[in-house]
Amino acid sequence: MNDIARIRFAHLPTPIEEMPRLSKALGGPRIFVKRDDQTGLAFGGNKTRKLEFLVAEAKALGAKTLISAGAMQSNHCRQTAAAAARFGMECILVLNGQHPEQPSANLLLDFLFNADVVWVADRKDRDAVLQHTYETARVNDCCPYLVPYGGSSPTGALGYAFAVQEYMQQGLKADWIIFGTSSGGTHAGLTLGARLFNCDARILGISIDEPVQALKANVSALASAASEKFGPRIEFTGDDVLANDDYCQAGYGIFGEQEREAINLFASNEGLLLDPVYTGRAAAGMIDLIRRGVIQKNETVLFWHTGGQPALFADKYQPEIL
Ligand SMILES: *Cc1c(COP(=O)(O)O)cnc(C)c1O
Repeated sequence: MNDIARIRFAHLPTPIEEMPRLSKALGGPRIFVKRDDQTGLAFGGNKTRKLEFLVAEAKALGAKTLISAGAMQSNHCRQTAAAAARFGMECILVLNGQHPEQPSANLLLDFLFNADVVWVADRKDRDAVLQHTYETARVNDCCPYLVPYGGSSPTGALGYAFAVQEYMQQGLKADWIIFGTSSGGTHAGLTLGARLFNCDARILGISIDEPVQALKANVSALASAASEKFGPRIEFTGDDVLANDDYCQAGYGIFGEQEREAINLFASNEGLLLDPVYTGRAAAGMIDLIRRGVIQKNETVLFWHTGGQPALFADKYQPEIL
């Protein structure tokens, strides 16, 4: 495990803080938050942990350009662009939509980090455009490294396997670890890390945009593949993956009353900021599970904050937050 390539630039360990006023407001269990919104790279977030391993792999392969893809307000793309700038690499991002008149929030930061953006009008063309962009960079001697969606390759997932080791060293014994899950790297890393480092908390991903069955398949495959980097392969199945898709019916990035309430509850009770797409939705799920007694009063919950707050300032969400 010591020969896994990693460049250390995240601010670790991230703090764990208790949220007593939120617990009280919900009449619920003790709730803690793990502050991965404070990982340090360009406003932080969960992608920074993955990028410690992805950038190390890219460098080892002699890459000079990081290429990735996502939504216009992708936190992953913002952190990837920042990592490229930090390590003297070029960055090309394939993003959904078209160049807005006035880039805001994450997109503004992408440009600040000097990323080149390739726009894809239709989301269903994104894979093909990404592949084409990669091929073009390759034949033009740009030495590209393809960072998968959300940084969720087996290599990226390592960031969250080691995050569990960090969490175990911090001494909190939570019954539940709750977070937003989408491309699955965070979920896979946490699931693998729990096995490797003997963490018996229930690792529950609140789906942002995927049905439970798809998440279980993707996360278990990623966790199994990532396990090979530590030693003999551990075969994870869908049964090893806890996921809930009750809160994503509106679709990716569609802001609604549940996200609005969660953001306002965290802000007004704890002075803590959630984001409109991921942590707002994940927290809404946690709040509902507490209210319905699925998470019980005598249990301890860790809300693993995955970042994303720059999107609070995206034009798209501004009118809806309050
Ligand atoms: C990407 C992201 C997630 C989801 O993480 P995955 O590893 O892609 O499942 C959660 N929260 C925020 C803020 C993110 O940017």
